[in-house]
Amino acid sequence: MNTTQSWIVVADDAAATGLVGAARTLGTEVVAVVAGRREVADALATAADRVLWLGEPGEAPVEAFAPAVAALVAQAAPRAVVGATTPSGRALLGAVGAALQAPVLSGIGTVELSGDQVVVTRSVLGGVSEHRTGVEGTAVLAVDAGAAVSGTPAAAVEEVAGEALAGARVTEVRPRERAGVNLGAARTVVAVGRGLKAREDVALLTELAGAFGGELACSRPLAEGVDWLPKERYIGISGQHIAPELYVAVGISGQLQHMVGVREAGVIVAVNSDKNAPVFSQCDYGVVGDLYQVVPALTAALKGGA
Ligand SMILES: Cc1cc2nc3c(=O)[nH]c(=O)nc-3n(C[C@H](O)[C@H](O)[C@H](O)COP(=O)(O)OP(=O)(O)OC[C@H]3O[C@@H](n4cnc5c(N)ncnc54)[C@H](O)[C@@H]3O)c2cc1C
Repeated sequence: MNTTQSWIVVADDAAATGLVGAARTLGTEVVAVVAGRREVADALATAADRVLWLGEPGEAPVEAFAPAVAALVAQAAPRAVVGATTPSGRALLGAVGAALQAPVLSGIGTVELSGDQVVVTRSVLGGVSEHRTGVEGTAVLAVDAGAAVSGTPAAAVEEVAGEALAGARVTEVRPRERAGVNLGAARTVVAVGRGLKAREDVALLTELAGAFGGELACSRPLAEGVDWLPKERYIGISGQHIAPELYVAVGISGQLQHMVGVREAGVIVAVNSDKNAPVFSQCDYGVVGDLYQVVPALTAALKGGA
């Protein structure tokens, strides 16, 4: 293993220069491999010590360069390989991990060297717990790129041979449609779960959220099961993590995967017809009752009509 080197693998990520800091903690020489546009390689030349560029990707998706990137990294056997947590970053890192027969660690908080080991802290279960992991051999780390670093190019960009897998090409690029909601900015969030019986009843909760001057959210089954609300609105371990002043959970049982998304909320109010629902041990105020009675009454009260 080359203990002085730390590599970063980059696809088309404009913020990739932000990865150099993490890589530099683990090696005195930072080598970047870029399987993307020349501009990305030029940007990395301002922060890394060496930049290897596989040439313009043309119509090939960056993922098709993963075996070529992995072969370069495996040959160098550096102490660490850092990539972004973006979909293309993960594709490159997955191939690197397979080539090195090393696990890819994600959820990285801090990174440091301790003797011969790379030691990372990793947040697991949506931040409920933190693990400290020591890695023998090359550490392959998926890191949030953070802010881009800019400056004067210090390294020359070296073009290296690296073929894309044959047969893969981008045929169309279609922007993802987003709901355009910013739950993170809302002071009050009213969320609804599977206690709701029908799609048209979402209107009851929209009205309550409006009466609070807040936003409407939901549990995952409503966004990824029945699709009554857009995916951008579900809260939890695989959804949004928010910290509103007030979170009102309606017809939500309070499973861990949901509640980790509101760990930082100020006050949590739960409305549930089952007095034994787990949400009642995780809220500040609980209303045991049928949401079809409680929600209209609450809305009316907020509007000053009750
Ligand atoms: C890997 C993984 C990741 C996951 N990630 C997420 C995530 O990010 N976010 C998330 O939300 N879930 C996530 N889940 C799913 C999670 O485990 C739960 O299944 C989900 O949160 C349950 O949603 P719910 O509370 O709406 O439904 P349920 O658990 O079915 O609860 C419905 C509740 O409504 C109550 N109710 C029924 N009728 C009424 C009524 N008339 N009035 C009032 N209350 C009523 C019931 O008593 C019940 O407590 C994940 C699961 C896995 C395995």
